[in-house]
Amino acid sequence: MATQKKCPECNEWTSWNHQLTDTCEHCGQLLDKRTINDLEYFEKQQKLNDENSFSAPKPGDNFLMLAVRRTVWIANVIYMATVSFFLWLFTTLAG
Ligand SMILES: [Zn+2]
Repeated sequence: MATQKKCPECNEWTSWNHQLTDTCEHCGQLLDKRTINDLEYFEKQQKLNDENSFSAPKPGDNFLMLAVRRTVWIANVIYMATVSFFLWLFTTLAG
């Protein structure tokens, strides 16, 4: 579904397919730079969280500790899915 969007760089109206990678017909700049930056930031944070995460198994864990970590991981996945859904919803509605 192609719509029109005002280019943040040159202020010309250009066709927009609601893709993060869409560029301006007039100046070739990305139309949704802010969203791409947000997404990169979000992914970076998520990667950092994964590395020092409580849910990552550590040497010396017993069965109970592994089960707790697994539960935390599942809760975290559900939380991330919800956040991702709302990010998608807001970016879609904002267009
Ligand atoms: Zn432009």
